[in-house]
Amino acid sequence: MSQALPFGVQGTPLRDWQNSAALRSVQPITLEALVPPGSRLVVLAPHPDDEVLACGGLLAAMAERQEDIQLISVTDGEGSHPGSSQWPQPQLRAQRRQESEHAIASLGLELSRISWHRLELVDGHVADRAESLIALLSEDMRPGDVLLSTWRHDGHCDHEAVGHCAAQAAANTGATLLELPVWAWHWAQPNDPRIPWDRARKLMLTDAQLMRKRKAITAHASQLQIDTSTGAAPVLDANTLERLLQPFELVFL
Ligand SMILES: [Zn+2]
Repeated sequence: MSQALPFGVQGTPLRDWQNSAALRSVQPITLEALVPPGSRLVVLAPHPDDEVLACGGLLAAMAERQEDIQLISVTDGEGSHPGSSQWPQPQLRAQRRQESEHAIASLGLELSRISWHRLELVDGHVADRAESLIALLSEDMRPGDVLLSTWRHDGHCDHEAVGHCAAQAAANTGATLLELPVWAWHWAQPNDPRIPWDRARKLMLTDAQLMRKRKAITAHASQLQIDTSTGAAPVLDANTLERLLQPFELVFL
């Protein structure tokens, strides 16, 4: 997720999304259609909680399939608490890595089945390394792979940079690109024309998958507490969490 967004404090309430005609009309899609069995899934997370916030339900569903997954943590999310003496950056880096591991385990994924790469790019400055990220992905991806990233217009600089890099790498290699919104749930309006509704599909989550996603989010303790040194509100507040815990995940094909 990462801190400091120039949007309204509360964002679009869940009840407004629940009343969205555009969202209601989005067609469901199965996991098998999104990630055909046997294809490699590569998840690109700008910050160490995005893989859970964007697609924790999808990953919980993948865990049931017992297939290998590649997870690329682009930054360590060390920029989530600027000016904090409670969370100095080196400590936050280590903390967020650990939270991420606990969260992945909470989704039911065995760490031994995850090929996990940490790129350690600077939080908030992924765009500065876009060319090398595209090159890295283009080297690794193959036709038939499914590359899942944050949406390239998600409204946060790192989420957008990662989305753009993923799109370019997918175009270079013939991999299938799936983009997922995270911050858009906050800033977009319920029938917002900026959302690519025609490309949108809903992956419906079972109660068990949603429960795993909820539990995985609680592993990100540093993002759920008030910063006692700066008084900053939790990065993941109650409004944000309820928007991200709807019983489906939105995917842009
Ligand atoms: Zn993020």
